[in-house]
Amino acid sequence: MVYHDTYRPEIHYYECLDCRWRETLEESVRICPRCGGKTRNIAVPRE
Ligand SMILES: [Zn+2]
Repeated sequence: MVYHDTYRPEIHYYECLDCRWRETLEESVRICPRCGGKTRNIAVPRE
Protein backbone atom coordinates (compact mmCIF):
# COMPACT_ATOMS: atom_id res chain seq x y z
CA MET A 1 0.00 0.00 0.00
CA VAL A 2 1.42 3.35 -1.06
CA TYR A 3 0.79 6.59 0.78
CA HIS A 4 1.19 9.64 -1.44
CA ASP A 5 -0.53 12.03 0.95
CA THR A 6 2.04 13.28 3.43
CA TYR A 7 0.75 14.35 6.80
CA ARG A 8 1.88 17.85 7.75
CA PRO A 9 1.17 18.77 11.39
CA GLU A 10 1.70 22.48 10.74
CA ILE A 11 -1.24 22.59 8.34
CA HIS A 12 -4.63 23.35 9.91
CA TYR A 13 -7.99 22.55 8.45
CA TYR A 14 -10.66 25.17 8.99
CA GLU A 15 -14.37 25.30 8.38
CA CYS A 16 -16.75 28.25 8.60
CA LEU A 17 -19.77 27.66 10.78
CA ASP A 18 -21.91 30.03 8.72
CA CYS A 19 -21.16 29.50 5.01
CA ARG A 20 -19.25 26.21 5.38
CA TRP A 21 -16.17 27.57 3.74
CA ARG A 22 -13.32 25.13 4.09
CA GLU A 23 -9.62 25.62 3.65
CA THR A 24 -6.32 24.21 4.77
CA LEU A 25 -4.13 26.95 6.17
CA GLU A 26 -0.76 27.29 7.83
CA GLU A 27 -1.95 30.19 9.91
CA SER A 28 -4.63 30.40 12.54
CA VAL A 29 -7.85 31.85 11.15
CA ARG A 30 -10.67 32.76 13.49
CA ILE A 31 -12.77 34.73 11.05
CA CYS A 32 -14.06 33.48 7.72
CA PRO A 33 -12.57 35.43 4.78
CA ARG A 34 -15.79 35.00 2.83
CA CYS A 35 -18.58 35.95 5.22
CA GLY A 36 -16.79 37.12 8.36
CA GLY A 37 -18.33 34.36 10.45
CA LYS A 38 -16.67 32.21 13.03
CA THR A 39 -14.43 29.37 11.92
CA ARG A 40 -13.44 26.24 13.71
CA ASN A 41 -10.43 24.03 13.50
CA ILE A 42 -11.30 20.60 12.21
CA ALA A 43 -9.21 17.72 13.36
CA VAL A 44 -7.86 15.54 10.60
CA PRO A 45 -9.56 12.17 10.81
CA ARG A 46 -7.26 9.30 11.65
CA GLU A 47 -7.70 5.63 11.20
ZN1 LIG B 1 -18.10 31.92 6.10
